[in-house]
Amino acid sequence: MLNIVLFGPPGAGKGTQSENLINKYNLTHISTGDLFRKHLKEGSDLGKLAQKYMDDGFLVPDEVVIGMVDDKIKNTPDVNGFIFDGFPRTVAQAKALDELMSNKGTPISGMIALEVPFEELKTRLLERGKVSGRVDDQNEEKIDNRIKVYLDETLPVSEYYKEQDKFSAIDGVGSIDGIFEKICEVVDSLSVEK
Ligand code: AMP
Repeated sequence: MLNIVLFGPPGAGKGTQSENLINKYNLTHISTGDLFRKHLKEGSDLGKLAQKYMDDGFLVPDEVVIGMVDDKIKNTPDVNGFIFDGFPRTVAQAKALDELMSNKGTPISGMIALEVPFEELKTRLLERGKVSGRVDDQNEEKIDNRIKVYLDETLPVSEYYKEQDKFSAIDGVGSIDGIFEKICEVVDSLSVEK
């Protein structure tokens, strides 16, 4: 199976490139942000709990996120592989993901990090906020907070994958197709354990 962690700060293009990867490699998309937004829309208890963190750009507690991903993996058998988008966002989540995947007998193949300068991220997120309706995309203070949370809590996750020799970085500025081509070069070079 091919199991990819697509990594990067908010606004790096993870959602867009995940769509491309799903289509090309027939993978199952697990975006924790999308899953939380679905719960929010449905008005579930999980959605209500997550909302107070999401609205201000803070991370939802690890045990809540990990439980949700565990459920999603268990409820999605017979797949070619997974693409994790927006998860793991803390080292504790990365460790938990390794355990979930090892229980499934299929490890993470690699992490691909999209690198984009912070000023560009802010511009992209404010633009997205005009159409996405996402509260967390519409306010500069909230965006700054999400970037701070990324630097403090999420960036160390890349070290975790570097230590396992599973880390690749890609310049996330340029055309969507050009960036996708570079991502595919990395994906095609990953050793995939069946
Ligand atoms: P995203 O769509 O990935 O930008 O996620 C939107 C929001 O959902 C984040 O700002 C967090 O509040 C929450 N969230 C999504 N994924 C995670 C995660 N892996 N860990 C903690 N919180 C998350």
